[in-house]
Amino acid sequence: MVVGNGMAGIRAVEELLDRGGAEQFDITVFGDEPYGNYNRIMLSHVLSGEETEEAIFLNALPWYAQNSIDLRAGVRVDRIDRFAKVVHDADGGRTPYDTLLLATGSTPFFPTMEGLDLDGVFTFRTLDDARSLLTSAKTHRRAVVIGGGLLGLEAAHGLATHGLQVDLVHSPAHLMNQQLGPEAGRVLRRKIEELGIRVHTGVRTRGLRGTGRVEGVELPDGTVLEADFVVIAAGIRPNVDVAVRSGLEVERGVVVDDRMRTSHPDVYAVGECVQHRGQTYGLVAPLWDQAGVLADHLTGARPDAEYHGTRTSTKLKVAGVDVVAMGLPGPERDDDEFVVFSEPHRGVYLNVVVREGRLVGATLLGDVRKTAFLTQAFDQGLPLPEERTSLLFDLGSPDEATSVAELSDDVQVCNCNGVTKGRIVDAVAGGCTSITAVMGKTKAGKGCGSCKPLVEQITEWAAGGDLTVDESVGWYVPGVPLAKPELMAAIRERGLKSVSAVFRELAPGGVEDAKSKMGLTSLLRMMWPEGIEEERDGRYINDRVHANIQRDGTFSVVPQMKGGVTTPEQLRKIADVADKYDVGMVKVTGGQRIDLLGVAKEDLPKVWADLGMPSGYAYGKSFRTVKTCVGSEFCRFGLDDSTQLGIDLETRYQGIETPAKLKLGVVGCPRNCAEAYVKDIGVVAVGAGKWEVYVGGAAGATVRKGDLLATVGSAQEVLTLTGRFIQFYREWGNWLERTYEFVPRLGIERVRKVLVDDSDGLAAGLDERVQAAVDNYRDPWQEGTAPVTTGQFRPALPLGMPAVRS
Ligand SMILES: Cc1cc2nc3c(=O)[nH]c(=O)nc-3n(C[C@H](O)[C@H](O)[C@H](O)COP(=O)(O)OP(=O)(O)OC[C@H]3O[C@@H](n4cnc5c(N)ncnc54)[C@H](O)[C@@H]3O)c2cc1C
Ligand code: SF4
Ligand code: SF4
Repeated sequence: MVVGNGMAGIRAVEELLDRGGAEQFDITVFGDEPYGNYNRIMLSHVLSGEETEEAIFLNALPWYAQNSIDLRAGVRVDRIDRFAKVVHDADGGRTPYDTLLLATGSTPFFPTMEGLDLDGVFTFRTLDDARSLLTSAKTHRRAVVIGGGLLGLEAAHGLATHGLQVDLVHSPAHLMNQQLGPEAGRVLRRKIEELGIRVHTGVRTRGLRGTGRVEGVELPDGTVLEADFVVIAAGIRPNVDVAVRSGLEVERGVVVDDRMRTSHPDVYAVGECVQHRGQTYGLVAPLWDQAGVLADHLTGARPDAEYHGTRTSTKLKVAGVDVVAMGLPGPERDDDEFVVFSEPHRGVYLNVVVREGRLVGATLLGDVRKTAFLTQAFDQGLPLPEERTSLLFDLGSPDEATSVAELSDDVQVCNCNGVTKGRIVDAVAGGCTSITAVMGKTKAGKGCGSCKPLVEQITEWAAGGDLTVDESVGWYVPGVPLAKPELMAAIRERGLKSVSAVFRELAPGGVEDAKSKMGLTSLLRMMWPEGIEEERDGRYINDRVHANIQRDGTFSVVPQMKGGVTTPEQLRKIADVADKYDVGMVKVTGGQRIDLLGVAKEDLPKVWADLGMPSGYAYGKSFRTVKTCVGSEFCRFGLDDSTQLGIDLETRYQGIETPAKLKLGVVGCPRNCAEAYVKDIGVVAVGAGKWEVYVGGAAGATVRKGDLLATVGSAQEVLTLTGRFIQFYREWGNWLERTYEFVPRLGIERVRKVLVDDSDGLAAGLDERVQAAVDNYRDPWQEGTAPVTTGQFRPALPLGMPAVRS
């Protein structure tokens, strides 16, 4: 009898079955959730929309039947009568047992504060919790998450991905204080704040405010963080209710010995509900070990098996950031060696703590390449290299292949699913020769994903370099098994002009895939410049309403100002509109434009009409702006008219869709006042009518100087070459691949050969097709007066928008 249908209970059952337990036991499982067994870790992915509910089930209902397990799903156990050996369930049932396993997990901890009984207060533990949060995320705008540990961060990240304004309140001084030291916590905080989440550390909540429904969270200084709903993720407590009611020995958790036996013979316990040698756990790694020991013991496979605790090394992907933490977060004794590397801007923090020549702690944040060796050194006390920095960087320490080879078979590679190196090697020996096949067979890498690089290395090593290429890597979108050239050929051949037609004809079983829709819409629009059958759900919100959504759910309007040039008349109009609609902020952007921020969705058509100016492309995967300097017209260094060329480029290519956004710059001399060298396409006047054209530059999260494509002799040639590059990128670039990835992928020499030397005879066709795109350009602002759908400019949210009204 198993009480608790969660990760530990079912893992124990799986281990029993692996050891022939089906012959020895008739298994009954009680679980108060009305489902099969799912991977709780993946709830974060369900919340962020990266995974579907179906995808996170480890064992769906048929598995129980196939293994002759009697599952009582949705039935809560009240207590165990240890003497009669019967369990009493909440439905009034009584079921006898011989051996009982408690695996009731944890319950969320609620800090003492007022207002916990208000509507709109949630926890984040179960599939039902994730569903409630998803529903709230769709209908509300502001959330406050209480707790900045793993769960709180995951909840905040998940909610932020839905465009909500999220405040995270954490009472300790730094995030994830249980796993990380203060400096690592600060680096993590930066990364979290980059996601748009507002972090408040060292702040206790005074209480929840609201009448009937929660409206805000009050802080000690009286500030109230407004909230439409609140998530409490302030920690967990072992769920010992059944154990207490049944008279078992309970301290912080259900007390067990080294065989996972409770104070009563025939009653065992595993997972988060237990306390073993004074220790309770809140991560999955220990429960894999516990389940193995229990199964060894119960089946008699290894009667002397004992559990001696788990040294938790945490491998996580928290809100998209890789985190590995083991042992001590920092030095404790005077003679502890401490090697630290911190690069907060890049979100990287690494440290190791060495005591008497042994690794006793390590933290890796943002760069987890050294995980394999460090885990091994930590778990097995391996001798360390003299040069301690090589623990963090590859400075003559064993290269990756060697360290993978040296890992012992029982090293846990995937924490989330409890997969060891040995199981991966067995999967390869059993015929899995691609990474996807290994992941499918072992489930390794299918949890938080942080171990994927290691799974890949081990698979490669085990296959002796004889890997089958994983074809899906080359697909243009995940839902259609074709690379871009084949996909384009099939679309053209069949004349497919809508996203649903592509799915119907080319996806396996005609199944639609939400993650593929945006990429397909963009591809179809590129291929059929004269028009496609538009399906609005195939576009991002910004593309649907032709404005840029901001973090508070309002939009920004950016009147077009080609080349950054405007007129007094335009400025007057912009000022009038800003007054009339009381816009939140008027801002000159990095792209030399004026941004009117804080416009409500339903006001967009009115704002556009009053402005009477077309939209500058401030959103969308398309040609955006051309930044220019004042050039020869006004600047005393100017060698040519950069302003006019910028305007001409923007006029010609405005709005054309590309795999990712495209930003340009034109400067009148190499002094580079408009930063052309770091644009997707940068044009620099070099005198005597000549212009240099650079491609593949970037000055965002990645900084890269563009590669010189060619030096041409006239502005007209710049326009042609630029158009040719844009079309080439449209046809050969992967979906969402920026030019700074695209150009290095192909190599500038190859790009130059194709576009400048016309080595492949493609140039004329590219010129022709980009011309067709230019000819078919339509001003999307027209939709302001003739909406494409009735709901296009209706507020999406039932709550009032901020006061941006005429
Ligand atoms: C959102 C989220 C993200 C996480 N991410 C990570 C991560 O990245 N890495 C990591 O290592 N860990 C992570 N964890 C923790 C991990 O999920 C747990 O360590 C693990 O699920 C514990 O397993 P368990 O079986 O002890 O408890 P659970 O999986 O919670 O299972 C207990 C089950 O028992 C049921 N139950 C309780 N009482 C009764 C009763 N009286 N009658 C019948 N059924 C009962 C419960 O409903 C539940 O289904 C995460 C947890 C959450 C919630
Ligand atoms: S505008 Fe750009 S740089 Fe500024 S916060 Fe937003 S994404 Fe970051
Ligand atoms: S880039 Fe050269 S031409 Fe342009 S403003 Fe600067 S100095 Fe003048």
